[in-house]
Amino acid sequence: MAIIKFLGTAGARYVVARQLRASGGVYIEAEGTRLVLDPGPGTLVYMAREKLRVEKLSGIIVTHVHLDHSADLNILVDAITEGGLKKRGTVFIPREGLYGENAVLLPYLRPYLQRIEILGAQKEFRLGEIAFRTSVRHHHPVETYGIVMEVSGKRVGFVVDTLYFKGLLESYQGCDLLIFNVVRFKPHPSPQVQHLSVANVKEMVEILRPERAVLTHFGMTMIRANPKQVAQKLTKETGIPVIAAYDGFEIEL
Ligand SMILES: [Zn+2]
Repeated sequence: MAIIKFLGTAGARYVVARQLRASGGVYIEAEGTRLVLDPGPGTLVYMAREKLRVEKLSGIIVTHVHLDHSADLNILVDAITEGGLKKRGTVFIPREGLYGENAVLLPYLRPYLQRIEILGAQKEFRLGEIAFRTSVRHHHPVETYGIVMEVSGKRVGFVVDTLYFKGLLESYQGCDLLIFNVVRFKPHPSPQVQHLSVANVKEMVEILRPERAVLTHFGMTMIRANPKQVAQKLTKETGIPVIAAYDGFEIEL
């Protein structure tokens, strides 16, 4: 059995800054392998509150360096390695997260880790019992990859932040469960705001036809629209069960 637990469902500046929803990313546990995907602000606090043992994490995936996906990366590495006393844990992160102006993993912590893996487009990785691959590069202001994970015989796609484009579809084909970061209710008038809207999610669900889909990472326009009602409408329109995640929401596989 595996579980996917949402340590937060906030997805944009205002919702994160005001903590209208928590912003801790996603916790995944399968056959003793435990990882956090996109440790946003408050991940450490949320895990402690939920009695999830941080030092038992096998690894962390950072899909991109934006703060709502990476803010707690360093403190998690410190916790996993017990401040450097134990060499353990793996961090998966795009090159941009390690080198250059946008590097987010503190250099002094890096030798404490057992492994640092650089995420690139359409590459395969393994962490203990969990195998995953990256999507094509997403259209987002920083280097970003989605994740397709094999968990307990199910294929789970994490469609993280991106502008919608047709080339996105092939990366998420064959997924049993699709988890969408749907920041926008309606597309933003500015093309610089590279995020999915509800219409994009509807199109992807209709084409890809997963067994079920989950919405998360909500911006203010989604919170106002009521994610639960949006999910119910999408379920009706697509014929595929669509669920709106909430903080602490858990899926068993
Ligand atoms: Zn982002």
